[in-house]
Amino acid sequence: MAAQPKKKISRVRGRTRRAHSAVKMVSLSACKHCGHPKPAHLVCNECGFYGGRKVLTTKTDKRISKKLQSDKKAELAKIKKEATKKPAKPKAPSKPKAQKAKPKTDKPSSKSDSKNS
Ligand SMILES: [Zn+2]
Repeated sequence: MAAQPKKKISRVRGRTRRAHSAVKMVSLSACKHCGHPKPAHLVCNECGFYGGRKVLTTKTDKRISKKLQSDKKAELAKIKKEATKKPAKPKAPSKPKAQKAKPKTDKPSSKSDSKNS
C-alpha cells in the first residue's frame, strides 16, 4: 500500500495552498538592438542579441541567408545563361549603350529648361 495522508485536507486549506499556483504574466521589455518585446535577462529570439553582441543564429537569420544564397544562385544562373547566349552579340549591345547615354543627358536638361522657363 502506498503512503496515505493522516487526515483529510479541508477545502479551504487546499484552495489556500493553490492560491499561489496561478500562472503569472511574463513581463516583457523591448530588445535594445531591434526593439522586439522579449522577457528580461534572456536572449532576443528575433535578432539573437544579448548584452549588445550576437549570441544566437535565429530563424530570421537563416531565412535571410537562404534568400541571399538563392539570389546568388539565380544571379549565377542568369550570368551563365547570358554568357552562353551572347557570344555572337557582344558588339551590338555596346553601341546602343553609348547611344542611350547621350539622350539621357539631353532629356534632363530639356526638363530643367522647361522648369526654369
Ligand atoms: Zn532583438
